[in-house]
Amino acid sequence: MDAKRKLMDLKNIAKNVAKPILKEQGSIQVVSHFDADGICAGTIMYKALQYLGKTFELSFVKQLDSSVLKSMASNPKDMIIFTDLGSGQLDIIRKYFPETKIVVADHHQPVNFYWSELSHLNPHLVGLDGKDDISGAGIVYILCRELSVRTKNLVEFALVGAVGDMQQKGDDFLGINNLFLEEAEFLGLVKKERGLRLFGRYTRPLHKALEYSTDPYVEGISGSESGAIQFLSDLGIPVKTRNGDWKTLSDLTKAEEKKLATALVIESVSSNGDSGKLIGSLYRLSNNYDIREFATLLNACGRLDQPLEGVKLCLGSRKVADDINKEYRRRLARAVYWYNKNKKGFKRTKNAMYIVAGDNVDDNFIGTVLSIAIRKGIDTNILFGFANTGTAVKVSARAKKSRDGINLGKAIREASNRVGGEGGGHTTAAGGKIPKGAEEEFISAVDLLLYGGS
Ligand code: C5P
Ligand code: C5P
Ligand code: ZN
Repeated sequence: MDAKRKLMDLKNIAKNVAKPILKEQGSIQVVSHFDADGICAGTIMYKALQYLGKTFELSFVKQLDSSVLKSMASNPKDMIIFTDLGSGQLDIIRKYFPETKIVVADHHQPVNFYWSELSHLNPHLVGLDGKDDISGAGIVYILCRELSVRTKNLVEFALVGAVGDMQQKGDDFLGINNLFLEEAEFLGLVKKERGLRLFGRYTRPLHKALEYSTDPYVEGISGSESGAIQFLSDLGIPVKTRNGDWKTLSDLTKAEEKKLATALVIESVSSNGDSGKLIGSLYRLSNNYDIREFATLLNACGRLDQPLEGVKLCLGSRKVADDINKEYRRRLARAVYWYNKNKKGFKRTKNAMYIVAGDNVDDNFIGTVLSIAIRKGIDTNILFGFANTGTAVKVSARAKKSRDGINLGKAIREASNRVGGEGGGHTTAAGGKIPKGAEEEFISAVDLLLYGGS
């Protein structure tokens, strides 16, 4: 695949999609997805509309479905811009907003649907799969470059979105993401470095970064502030700078970092038999965060129902970061604990495993639990999760990479529709919402659909 050519093709579509936005004099509603990618997408659009002096509001939703669209329809705007969502819901959007000017800039699998008020930008339109090559934020970046050249400096958020959607392969970015990386490096926004991959490299006192490190988990250091301080002092690495401030990992000399890395590898091999991915590439953003760390933080804002705090972080605020991190870790740990305790009892078919969590896992965390289970190498190719959300049930699904012919987005859409719900997504990560009590019926339907049945 020639990424440069695909990028040109997308830019050509973006020029047309930009026109109605540039012309719009009325009120604009921007609706974005609440995860890290959606927060980055929303932030880029926010800045672009601000540069243009438009009248607009930015809001976030967990997923776009009839109930969300219906409530939006009660307060209609002149134009709605959907970012990092919408392509899979074009038909329902049209149903609720037949006459409103609609812009959709998304990377999810689109439904084949068009009407005259729609302007649509999506990688699938140029034959690209949005799962690995470009994030929702990346698509929005391409569009916003056509709105104002001042958005150029937001290219780093296109990459943060990609990391949030787990589009990195190892340490590398693929396809158009890689072109964004080159652009961001050229502009001096992102710097690639090699070193210890501890969260908080640039932002957290070193002993705290060690204390909070759970991947890998090192006996006596993870979870123990005094253990972490002792460990550093045994290595002869001072925890404070000459001015008396706490040192961050990035304050260490190369020799000190090497000494620390060697000691940590030895410690973690002796406590886990494995040093994990302790050493590798880092991408430092212009706000000094490591890109993985920042994407995780934004994701946490979204999952804790505070996506606007994520936008503020993108715009340079630091205020809430620590609290969000703490609460996110606590809530995720609770969900993973429930999963581990119950994992022997989940329903299995020859195609997939089905985790019906009811009220035991927060609906915002069920997808993340599946992602973790898949990453840890669970012995099933496809994993579904169900968690109660108000009067309905949130469905999430993840598949291991490299399985040909699986299209979770399509299977979830069809099975949800059959039981009176809605859904969609990517081929290997998808979601939806179904009525309470419809889990079993949904499972029977989707299990047949997974490998192309009906
Ligand atoms: O909205 P959507 O594009 O935001 O996000 C993709 C989702 O797919 C992310 O929430 C991410 O957690 C999930 N994903 C995953 N495993 C992968 C790739 C993506 O769970 N290997
Ligand atoms: O919610 P979850 O993380 O499981 O979503 C996985 C993927 O499916 C995300 O990319 C999400 O945007 C997408 N999705 C969708 N339509 C839905 C629900 C989720 O496209 N109704
Ligand atoms: Zn996305």
